[in-house]
Formats: sequence, structure tokens, C-alpha cells
Amino acid sequence: MQPLMSIYGVTRPLLGLWLETSLRASEDRATAQRRAAALFAALYRGVDRSFDRSVKGSVDCSVHPAEVPLVATEQSAAKTLPENVIRKEALESLQKSFSFQCPVEVREAHRSAADGSVKFAMATHDNLLVETVLIPERGRLTLCVSTQVGCAQGCRFCQTGRMGLLRSLRADEIVGQLVAVSRWMVENAVSSPEAIHKKDVASDESDANLKKRVPRISNVVFMGMGEPLDNLEALLNAIDIFVDEKGLGLSPNKVTVSTVGLLPQLETFLQKSGACLALSLHSPFDAERSRVMPVNAHHPLSEVLAVLRRHAQESGRRFMFQYTLIRNVNDSPAHAEALAALLEGLRAKVNLIPLNEHEGTAYRRPGLEPVFAFQSLLKARGLVATVRLSKGRDIQAACGQLIQQSGRRGHTVPSLAATLSPTR
Ligand code: SF4
Repeated sequence: MQPLMSIYGVTRPLLGLWLETSLRASEDRATAQRRAAALFAALYRGVDRSFDRSVKGSVDCSVHPAEVPLVATEQSAAKTLPENVIRKEALESLQKSFSFQCPVEVREAHRSAADGSVKFAMATHDNLLVETVLIPERGRLTLCVSTQVGCAQGCRFCQTGRMGLLRSLRADEIVGQLVAVSRWMVENAVSSPEAIHKKDVASDESDANLKKRVPRISNVVFMGMGEPLDNLEALLNAIDIFVDEKGLGLSPNKVTVSTVGLLPQLETFLQKSGACLALSLHSPFDAERSRVMPVNAHHPLSEVLAVLRRHAQESGRRFMFQYTLIRNVNDSPAHAEALAALLEGLRAKVNLIPLNEHEGTAYRRPGLEPVFAFQSLLKARGLVATVRLSKGRDIQAACGQLIQQSGRRGHTVPSLAATLSPTR
């Protein structure tokens, strides 16, 4: 039997369209979209107290967040949806059409003793494993999500690239990573980003109280396993769900997509999404970049940067650039000079990432001195440049260290978009 589509991959407009078309006799378009908004809030704001104010003001429903445990527990979501959000017969129809189970399941969670990052191994329905990393920092809680199981791009310094591509994730499996981690925080009574640093949360408060004020994930970065633009439709749908103000409500500038620069997907992404874009550079020289990143042979840096320059001129958009520093490969002053020249005229921010070493690569991490010298050179040339000392290195959760050992191909679930709408 074909598995049900997961509700977690459905955007709000598509959910409204489904309500309108499935319940045609009783729902007009405006009512269907209002109910979709209420359902969305119920799905994604289960542990957020601000939900009450934001939803009651705009939608005819009175769901109380404490009564909506979709993010908070492993219970089936549909069972808990109150009837003032959606009538009984519509609810039954919804339950027959969609699965409300979280599409990925936390199999393992490893917490870094050094910085509090938590690396999760998530299992998909077909028993593949993807990795997701929760990164607590002062004032924010960032989730690094995967878009594929493995990756086809084969960057030479990256563990994931050595796996090859097993399959791309669906939108619900991407969104599900956030849902599963949110539930994990509730179940582990994590009361603040800082509390993640502690193994046991020492507090006099009851678990029930802590669960009511579990922190929200504030930032999402698409820097886990896979090349996001190689899975464009699922990526765009997942971002739509992350930034929907009736649901999770993340600001687009708190969502960052990291890419090696696939064309023409890059142009489509820039046209359709307001999320931040971070281009992985790793060398300012074409031949050298091709050696480190095989994709450069097909999509040369000059062509990728031309797209960014054109888009920046039209929109004033600012871009991030990621540069993994590899000892004696791309960390010389000449590289810094060439990089600054390459980015001249762009509103650019450069993230310098000293290589995270792993088994099976001859590449080495540079010392801090050349790293900061590289940064100073870029700054002297007028660029904004930061050094990112990756979190989670001790649990193999840092950039380029994510890998799974086993996996098999599985069947796919058709998308609602394909069913209801010919175009995104
Ligand atoms: S760095 Fe990113 S794009 Fe390159 S192989 Fe690794 S996961 Fe894929």
C-alpha cells in the first residue's frame, strides 16, 4: 500500500488548496485558507506561548499551545486538533489523506562536552540515516539540517562527499528534522540554549513547567549532508514552511542555504527565495577550485559569480561566501589577495572555516596564525571576514564531518504539489 503523504511537507497555500478542493461543498477559498492557517499554527507552534496572541488576532480559532502537542510529543497530531479549527468530517478526511507522524526519528543524540552542540542521527522511513546538528550560542539556537542522504558533489575535503548520493530528502523529511529536534528538547526538558550545555538540567522546576518554555530554534542553516540546490523543489518548500508566519515564523534572514553553486538552480533559488545564500568558494583560482570541488569543472566560478553580481545589482542583495582553509593548499597571502579581488564590488561577507580533519583525507587544518593573517588581509581589502571555529568537532558534527555508514534506497512518497499544482 502506498504510504500516506506527510503533513509536514505541505505548505500552507497547498493545504488551503487541499481543503478547498477536497471539501468543495462546504469550504470557500477564504475559509479554506483561514483553516489552513489555523492548522499550520497548531502543527508548528505547539510549544510557543506567543502563539495565542499571534493566531487569535488573525484566525478564528482558540487553540491553546499547551493543548497542541504536535511538536511537543510523539502523539499523533491529528487526534489533538480541536474541532473549532476544523470540523469532524474534515478532520477525518485529513487523517485519511495525510500522515501526522514525524517523518524522521531520532535514533541517537550525541552532545559535545566542549561546546554543547548536539548531533542527531535521524532515521527515515526507509531506514536511511541523516544527520542534524543543534548549535546553541548566546541568544540563538541554530539547527543545521540535511537535504540529502549523502551527496553527489564529491568535494575532496568532505566526509559526506565520500558517501556518494543515496537519495534526496523530501520536504517533510527536511522539516521533520526541526520537528524531531523540538520534541527532543521538550522530552529532555531543555529550558534554554545554555541548558543544552549541561548534561542534566538542574532545576527545581517541574518537567511540566520546563516543557512550557522550551526554547525555539531561531536559525536554520542548510549546511548538513547534501547539496541543497541539487534538491531544489524540496528545499524551496521546506523554506516556505520554515518562514511561514502562521507556523514557525522564522525570518528569511535567519535561514541560510549553503551551496557549491549549481546552475541554473542558483538563479531559480534567487528568484523564488528570500533566504540567505552562502556560496562555498574554497579557492579563488579556477583550476585549483576544480581540484578541491569537482563541480567547478561544470559550473565555473566566473559563471556562478556573474549570476550573483547580476542579482546583487538588481536587488541589492548581500551574499555570504564560505572558504575552508586547508593548510598549504589555499591559505597563502596570495590566495587572500586573489579572493579579495574576486569579490570586489559585491556586498560580501566571508566566513573562514579552518578545515575539520577526518580520516581518509590527506588535507590538514592550518594553525590559527595563518588563519587570522588571512582574515586580516581580507579586512584590509575592505571585506567583512569572520573566522568560524566550527562547533561539534569532538562529536564529528562540524562542517564536512557528517557521514552515515549504512543505507539503502527506498520508495518515495508523491508530493502534494505534484498532485494539486503543476508549478510551484
Ligand atoms: S561540502 Fe557540501 S556539497 Fe561538497 S560534498 Fe560535502 S555535502 Fe556535498
